[in-house]
Amino acid sequence: AKEMGKNNYQFFTKELDEKNAKKMMLERELHKALERGQFQLHYQPQFDLQSGCLLGVEALIRWEHPKLGTVSPADFIPLAEETGLIVPIGNWVLQTACHQNKKWQDVGFPAVRISVNVSVRQFTQPNFVDNVKEVLEQSGLSPDCLDLEITESMTVEGEFFHSVLRKLKELNIHVSLDDFGTGYSSLSSLRHFPINRLKIDQTFVKTLDDTNKAIVAMIITLAKSLKINVIAEGVETMEQVIFLKEMNCHEAQGYFFAKPMPAEQITVFFARSFAY
Ligand code: C2E
Ligand code: CA
Ligand code: CA
Ligand code: CA
Repeated sequence: AKEMGKNNYQFFTKELDEKNAKKMMLERELHKALERGQFQLHYQPQFDLQSGCLLGVEALIRWEHPKLGTVSPADFIPLAEETGLIVPIGNWVLQTACHQNKKWQDVGFPAVRISVNVSVRQFTQPNFVDNVKEVLEQSGLSPDCLDLEITESMTVEGEFFHSVLRKLKELNIHVSLDDFGTGYSSLSSLRHFPINRLKIDQTFVKTLDDTNKAIVAMIITLAKSLKINVIAEGVETMEQVIFLKEMNCHEAQGYFFAKPMPAEQITVFFARSFAY
């Protein structure tokens, strides 16, 4: 039994070593990814559920590595957060997204909002708001055409969180609470946050059993009483669309409508959506 325990232990450490080695390799590559131009943004449309109007697009980062292939943000964003690399990467995302949105407006498409995901590490940088302001000025994009998607977990930042939100509101920048329903923000504190929109987490929309239907309905009611907007994400089926419409959900995003696409494809999508 003693021997076996030892083997198990060795097996365990070997697995850990491999995992660590892979992580270190990924981290090394991540350090170089920005300067090597390996990141790209894809954009996924967001719609008004009642009118069908296109309201905006969410920018989602993609990492194309020459050897590793496409690395999912679910795999490298946590690593980027851990190492602090999310700050320069997030800044690149913000700049690229704002410039792209301005470009679409400059070629004559009606103005839509661009949603940019923001990590805690970025949000808590002392110069975060100034930086956002600077990017808007450089790109020439109107502040109300920018939406920052922050997660519920950031609400634990308390007074600091509040002060950043207030500054963003003063600047007329839109803020959405992403992955709503999965975090820990108390419902009563929500009314003090100057936010514009709740984004229902896709796990609730995915399987619309009785429990999830009740949760979705509750979030929509909550948004209504807070007088803010609500968007459902991860919408894939007609049944989901029908349910969300019945519940008077304002907006929706998901494969049912459109997948995330590179800028060139979105331009074609815009040309079709805004039929003149
Ligand atoms: P998220 O912000 O919750 O984004 C939604 C994810 O759901 C995206 O995955 C999107 O491609 C996917 N999705 C959209 N519609 C559907 C659908 O109908 N069905 C299903 N099953 N999935 C759908 P993606 O692009 O892999 O991104 C994963 C996560 O990585 C994001 O979750 C976000 O937390 C993070 N992320 C992505 N881009 C950025 C970024 O630029 N900055 C930061 N900080 N995080 C990012
Ligand atoms: Ca998001
Ligand atoms: Ca989300
Ligand atoms: Ca998420």
